[in-house]
Amino acid sequence: MKTKVLKVDEDNIDREIIKQASEIIKNGGLVSFPTETVYGLGANGLDSDATSKIFEAKGRPQDNPLILHISSEDELKELVREISDDARKCMDAFWPGPLTIIFNRSEIVPDSVTAGLDTVAIRMPSNKIALEIIRESKKPIAAPSANTSGKPSPTAAEHVYKDLDGKLELIVDGGRTGIGLESTVIDLTEDVPTILRPGGVTYEDLSKVLGRVEIDKSIINFTENIVPKSPGQKYKHYAPNSEMYIFKGEFKSVVDRINEIAIEKTQNGKKVGIMCTDESLDKYKAGLIYSMGSREDEDSIAHNLFHILREMDRENVDIILSESVDFSEMGLAIMNRMIKAAGGKIEQL
Ligand code: AMP
Ligand code: MG
Repeated sequence: MKTKVLKVDEDNIDREIIKQASEIIKNGGLVSFPTETVYGLGANGLDSDATSKIFEAKGRPQDNPLILHISSEDELKELVREISDDARKCMDAFWPGPLTIIFNRSEIVPDSVTAGLDTVAIRMPSNKIALEIIRESKKPIAAPSANTSGKPSPTAAEHVYKDLDGKLELIVDGGRTGIGLESTVIDLTEDVPTILRPGGVTYEDLSKVLGRVEIDKSIINFTENIVPKSPGQKYKHYAPNSEMYIFKGEFKSVVDRINEIAIEKTQNGKKVGIMCTDESLDKYKAGLIYSMGSREDEDSIAHNLFHILREMDRENVDIILSESVDFSEMGLAIMNRMIKAAGGKIEQL
């Protein structure tokens, strides 16, 4: 299959391209499009044959359910059994935006989307290109991140092309995505609202709206073997090709430790990649040094994280050494992705 790439400006959307994209979706094909979080790999979410192509293209495990994307609240009713008060509050506060809500599903949602669960994950993105494609397709669009399973999620059309060229019909290139990390997933089907995956909407944001919110233990406890409630969280994820190590502790100790390893590895002929912050950019003495952004602005770190992990692959580094951030606000989502990318290798100093 030849994969077409067409550029679209979010502020001046070319209707012809939206039509082409939605024709492909209606005909059971795959289209990648930008959302405000990462690029999605979309298919008609009510057509099992179409959604099975997503699993095939990504090499995604069959038991990892998909998120359905809608463009208006009217589209929600037929997909869920009820809309609880908490769901209503979340939708009013955070939709359109980077919050995925788990509802009890209706019968029209195929098993292939929910991986056989009795619940379904639904989100209304805020990216205008995504909204227009969904609206024009007149179907909920199942769209996981448009990467090969296990790789960092795509924050630019080039990333999608690199992973999936030949496996989908069209990539709608809307430039780099804003948030750069996937949506927050919150389960509202249990007694207490529970965050299954941290993301663009923070725990603090959700607590203000809902009161009591829990965080699934697998997100913050990396040392014990806890089975996550969200199937997708148990798999290796976001991983660059090389070994990655994270260092946590007092600023100077972290910089010193990374320098020590970087210098030693470089002397042994290894190519070292360092992921630091604007505040420490001039402190490193060896290796290929990338700033993820400023500690004063963690949104910038989220925005750049996957992009830099992909740069590390492009540069063929042998080892990645990374600073860390605190586990609060956006830091929770950043650390969740980083620790998974590193396969849990975090050194406390
Ligand atoms: P992705 O779209 O690839 O970024 O991943 C979607 C995430 O949502 C995965 O972690 C899934 O396991 C999770 N998810 C989707 N549907 C459900 C569901 N019904 N219950 C719990 N988690 C879900
Ligand atoms: Mg994903």
